Amino acid sequence: MRRPKVRELKQALKSLFSRPYTNNFPVKPHKPYERFRGRPYFYQDGCVGCAACAQVCPANAIEFIDEIKGTLVKRRLTVHWDICVSCGQCQANCLTTKGIILSQEFDYATTEKRQELKQSIEKEFIVCECCGVPIIPYDQYAWVANKLGPLTFSNASLLLFYLRSIGLSLKERASPGSRSATINRSTRTKILCPGCRREAVIKS
Ligand code: SF4
Ligand code: SF4
Repeated sequence: MRRPKVRELKQALKSLFSRPYTNNFPVKPHKPYERFRGRPYFYQDGCVGCAACAQVCPANAIEFIDEIKGTLVKRRLTVHWDICVSCGQCQANCLTTKGIILSQEFDYATTEKRQELKQSIEKEFIVCECCGVPIIPYDQYAWVANKLGPLTFSNASLLLFYLRSIGLSLKERASPGSRSATINRSTRTKILCPGCRREAVIKS
């Protein structure tokens, strides 16, 4: 029989008189370490709806669906906690760094169906005021305008959007999928998708 090494013997003796490494969860609540990666949460104020987090998620735990709701187009982002592997890529690559943040929650046990383990948020889209095609989430456009600062004036649609947001231009809401009057010179003073912008520039 192999005799235990001195080092192992020392460790065994030490363990006899020290506190156990394991804890009493779930009898007692467990507080993870500070940098523990747990359940991710979307934050309505921090998220702009760009869906970059869905693109980088290695487990496909984040999905986004763009849907028409009456006269609005909305993007619904959903994080499925039952699929999430807590890698933290969504938080690390979030456009605003505040849209999705991993909490320290680790206990996923539920009496509901696992499909119920999810969280969703919605973001409204800006639609082309000529053809009604969804362009970009409203909050993402505002984020871009804010980021560009004075450079916003180099893009006609972005400039119009900015002027409207500060009340210096009238709002014109287009319905998704609708096609308004023919494109002419005056169309250039609307928020347009790239296709309509190109057509308006060529025709004017
Ligand atoms: S933590 Fe990782 S697996 Fe979970 S939602 Fe974010 S990117 Fe996907
Ligand atoms: S802002 Fe962040 S959380 Fe929101 S969709 Fe973009 S990457 Fe995801």
